[in-house]
Amino acid sequence: MDVLIVGGGIIGSSIAFELAKRGASVVVIERGELAQEASSAAAGMLGAHSEFSTDHPLLPLALASQAAFPAVIAELRELTNIEVGWNEAGMLKLATTMEEYEKLTEHYEFWRRIQPQHVRWLTSKEVADIERNVRNEYGAMYTIDQQVNAKQLSVAFAHGAMAKGARVLPYTEVYDFIFERERVVGVKTTSGTLYAERIVIACGAWTPMLAEKLRLSLHMYPVKGECVSVTTETPLLQTTVFAKNGCYIVPKANNRLIIGASAIAHSFAKTVQTCSVQHLLARAMQIVPAIAHSTFEKAWAGIRPQTKDGMPYIGAHPQYENVFVVTGHYRNGILLSAITGTIVSDMLERKDVPFDMTPFSLTRKEEGHALHH
Ligand SMILES: Cc1cc2nc3c(=O)[nH]c(=O)nc-3n(C[C@H](O)[C@H](O)[C@H](O)COP(=O)(O)OP(=O)(O)OC[C@H]3O[C@@H](n4cnc5c(N)ncnc54)[C@H](O)[C@@H]3O)c2cc1C
Repeated sequence: MDVLIVGGGIIGSSIAFELAKRGASVVVIERGELAQEASSAAAGMLGAHSEFSTDHPLLPLALASQAAFPAVIAELRELTNIEVGWNEAGMLKLATTMEEYEKLTEHYEFWRRIQPQHVRWLTSKEVADIERNVRNEYGAMYTIDQQVNAKQLSVAFAHGAMAKGARVLPYTEVYDFIFERERVVGVKTTSGTLYAERIVIACGAWTPMLAEKLRLSLHMYPVKGECVSVTTETPLLQTTVFAKNGCYIVPKANNRLIIGASAIAHSFAKTVQTCSVQHLLARAMQIVPAIAHSTFEKAWAGIRPQTKDGMPYIGAHPQYENVFVVTGHYRNGILLSAITGTIVSDMLERKDVPFDMTPFSLTRKEEGHALHH
């Protein structure tokens, strides 16, 4: 086997898809089911514009990933027949207080300077004209920030990879590595040992546990995110509504609305606190009062992989150059999945990557990335 990928979330699956398309022999090992963790908890926003308001190192990757999605999704649909809930209605950012208004103005000005064609400032009347159920607020419309069903997209990447010859081994946990003459040549799993030329570790928030086995300390921590969903008899929203207070409401198929999300650092517990549900619903009803008459569907939590400096880790292990670590996409892993698959495939093929990857390297000069001696 050419490449063994540990982790069947959206990151592992998108890498598998791209590598399989390029003709590599690929195996994905997942300790449970595909996309059972963060990748199924996500709201599915592809918010390249709404997420960034500065020249962040991730911005070029986010824009490239967003631009790649229409073709990637068409390709996945052709290969797998999986419906990923592609929605191009755009993202409406709202300011509910004076402070939020100022932040939104800054955000809008940033994008007006660099991509004026994709952003529009809205008076409260114009907001109401676009979304009549949204309480009158000032807003900005980010017309090309799309959204998808995150779980379906993750599964489609994996099935797309399988259609191109990759294998997926579910219910198989990797717990250690096999070393031969100072090289990593395979993995030890709950179903036996597997050998591969190259290994990609894409275990989301659980990556540090495996990285430790390779004497690599990653400065990462889990950030639990809780969401709720409600249903309504008729659609309440067309666009994704993202209030500057952190609350978002994402319209899905069958008149479902996903309302998110909390951010509880250092928690791996996928429990949902009652007060979080109350808080999320209260904020959502403040923005869209008609949500008060919706039907409560469910609540859930997922664990986002966050790093100390907020940058993902995408790169080769400093000592074992055939082992790659790809994680830490925090709240943008769905958005960044398409470009991550391409970048990591280029890295594995030793091709030039058309982005500055130094901020994401495993050895970047940020305290805490040292190898153990
Ligand atoms: C509430 C919430 C809302 C979000 N909303 C958005 C959004 O709107 N847009 C966006 O872009 N991002 C969003 N995100 C972030 C996004 O979900 C994550 O960045 C992304 O899913 C990370 O993908 P991943 O593949 O790295 O991790 P995961 O999806 O967590 O996958 C890691 C996989 O590795 C497996 N694994 C772990 N250890 C092992 C092992 N030892 N052996 C085998 N398998 C192993 C796990 O079982 C898991 O399936 C959200 C996240 C949350 C929690």
